[in-house]
Amino acid sequence: SPIVTAYLARTPSSADAYRRARAVFPAGVTHDSRYQLPHPLSVTHAAGARKWDSDGNEYVDYVGGHGALILGHAPPEVMARVAEQAMRGTHYGANHDLELRWGELVQAMVPCAELVRFTNSGTEATLMAMRLARAATGRSRILRLRGHFHGWHDHVAFGVTHHFDGSASAGVLPALAEQAVLVDPNDEAGLIAALDAHEGEIAAAFLEPTGSTYGQVPLRPDFVQRMREETAKRGILLIFDEVVTGFRVSRGGAQQALGITPDLATLAKILAGGLPGGAVVGRRDVLELLDPERAAQRGVEKIGHQGTFNANPLSAAAGVATLEILRDTDVLDRTHAYAAAFIAAANDMFCELGLPWVAYGAYGAFHIFINPNGLPVDPRSFDAASLGYADLKLPRGNRVAGKLRLATRLFGVDLSPWPGGLASGTHGEAELAQTLDALRGAIRLLRE
Ligand code: PLP
Repeated sequence: SPIVTAYLARTPSSADAYRRARAVFPAGVTHDSRYQLPHPLSVTHAAGARKWDSDGNEYVDYVGGHGALILGHAPPEVMARVAEQAMRGTHYGANHDLELRWGELVQAMVPCAELVRFTNSGTEATLMAMRLARAATGRSRILRLRGHFHGWHDHVAFGVTHHFDGSASAGVLPALAEQAVLVDPNDEAGLIAALDAHEGEIAAAFLEPTGSTYGQVPLRPDFVQRMREETAKRGILLIFDEVVTGFRVSRGGAQQALGITPDLATLAKILAGGLPGGAVVGRRDVLELLDPERAAQRGVEKIGHQGTFNANPLSAAAGVATLEILRDTDVLDRTHAYAAAFIAAANDMFCELGLPWVAYGAYGAFHIFINPNGLPVDPRSFDAASLGYADLKLPRGNRVAGKLRLATRLFGVDLSPWPGGLASGTHGEAELAQTLDALRGAIRLLRE
């Protein structure tokens, strides 16, 4: 295809790097979502809303560090504090002031965070949250929403992507998958039926509170509210996976924006300001299962938790700097406004071009629904919450999405793969104009 030919001509050095990468890494990547044909970009540096590949091409970036970079790439105030901290030591194997300030900020900003335990990643946080919930309730099952992503550990490696049916993916013990209870998002009747069928067996209900993949299939707030009421009634812990939504949807995450307080929440990404880090936060009585004295007082077993790099000083420095900026400036509002402006302009363009696509999203994220059925859709009446996964995953839609991503790169814009993107506080008018031009140019190439 001419798009692939043009991409190959523009990115020879990325192609070379990928040939070497294939000899070192399975599939030539270190994260599944970075896999891309004919080859992913090899990035050399990044600043603000932009990044550069090894051929010197410049891109407006919407990958946003997989959601970690709400302040854009290498924000000077954050990087200065990380550099300063690096000279003072990267690991003390001890308590330190920065972890304390970091934890206090989380406690002050996130409504459910009575106590905080830092981990190294979102995956570690969801694993710990599930263990805490099982210990706190003495029950074993976890209720999850189909398609909602919670990292890659064994308790969540199904019910997403290829294992929508909830069967265990290869390498995962089938017994773990059998313990899960999968419910379709926004399906209240299905939710109640599952809760009734497993009364007294479910430790926690786990969800991405704005819907899977940053709201690609949005959850209706009243469905989340129903989950809150039903779980409270039935002694089930409600756990918001705020790895993406935390500090993005609002300063206090989706829970603050929705006005629904979960029992526990998991955090990562923005939490650690572009460095590795995660946390489980929530109800004092549950987190206290990690405290030997409190556990002994209650006559229960303490939960174990280690992790060499938990709350390491570099991540703590970046986290403190980032959360302070989010708390004290209007960066979130600007990020949200940017994505909203893009969505409105993109929909105008799709209408003008007679294309049956819809841009949608909230809270600084945008998604492009490449209507694989080719049906006309009216963006004004489009209800993304009614999208079924089947609508999003049809092969033709996926093929067009892949081509769209390559084609926009030819115009200096790098979207996320689903397709869509995450804005940051550094995306401004120049980026918006360039992105819309790139989209128009890419559509022209796709139609040729
Ligand atoms: N939960 C959600 C909602 C995520 O989006 C992710 C990562 O994309 C994770 C958990 C896993 O976090 P991590 O990649 O830090 O392990």
